[in-house]
Amino acid sequence: MNLLIHLELFQRDLMRSYDTRRTLIKKFITFMAGFGLKGLGFTKGKEMKKIEHIITQGQKHWVGDGFHVQTMIHPSPGLYKFTNPFILLDYAQPKSFPPTEKRRGVGEHPHRGFETVTFAFEGEVEHRDSAGGGGVIKTGDVQWMTAASGLVHDEFHSTDFSKTGGLFEMVQLWVNLPKDKKMSSPRYQGVKNQDFPMIENEQTKIKVIAGEFEGKKGPCKTFTPINLYDIRQKSNDSMALTLKKDTNTLVLVRKGKVKIGNKTINQGELGILSKADEKLLMDLTKGSEILLLNGEPIDEPIVAYGPFVMNTKEEIAQAMEDYSNGKMGNL
Ligand code: MN
Repeated sequence: MNLLIHLELFQRDLMRSYDTRRTLIKKFITFMAGFGLKGLGFTKGKEMKKIEHIITQGQKHWVGDGFHVQTMIHPSPGLYKFTNPFILLDYAQPKSFPPTEKRRGVGEHPHRGFETVTFAFEGEVEHRDSAGGGGVIKTGDVQWMTAASGLVHDEFHSTDFSKTGGLFEMVQLWVNLPKDKKMSSPRYQGVKNQDFPMIENEQTKIKVIAGEFEGKKGPCKTFTPINLYDIRQKSNDSMALTLKKDTNTLVLVRKGKVKIGNKTINQGELGILSKADEKLLMDLTKGSEILLLNGEPIDEPIVAYGPFVMNTKEEIAQAMEDYSNGKMGNL
């Protein structure tokens, strides 16, 4: 059942401003053999996923003084049906920071109704929240914070990173929660790089962050079905994936180039893929590094206002009130 998604976006943000082939069948079969994917079959008549839209590099803005990001996705009426359940993706491309005594970042602010997922690709991020969660994530680590009923947190470059300075690259993803989980208890998952399963062959290295690939499960727990893969390509080659029908898929290209169908996603761009088809065939250049996000849409209305994402305006008003009254806690 597909309910009509209705979206309402308010003008002002509380905390942040969001200025906001088919290629050779032979190659495909070789690849599948390489991954032991025999039997999945390349059924004639089944269409490949294609790129619906590419978000190119655009305007960046600062989140606090630590995160120089481009908001690649946010719930826009035309595209949310292809990005749901992912609400927002901020990408801070590699940037060099000088050493400093004062930590850069963003101070105490609330969230309710969803999860924030932070990927540290270079550098270190330190987080603290009013539900008792917190920790430092370093290169390759992931922090999965379920705000749910509400909390306040701060997000800074770590003390060590601030002192030494260096290259900093991160992604922050907002994952929606279904209506019946929006007011559940907050949760914090901090996962170290070495604790993610890696699947590797001669061409490709896949780190399973959440969901499953080839029977290997990612350690990050999710409320709805989500697959998150960090894919790194060692040679100019194609790779194929089978994703569940009617799920949404996004490809963020951090390095290199990825061709899907007749379109190419370049470095620093994000591709939004078609939903209907199960098979994804990508041609990746040597050294490509991508983040692949796949999720089952949550077919419920959303109302997004700054740091809160709920189902109705009334719930947003309630979130504002609860935050003002200190019900989301203090650091
Ligand atoms: Mn935050």
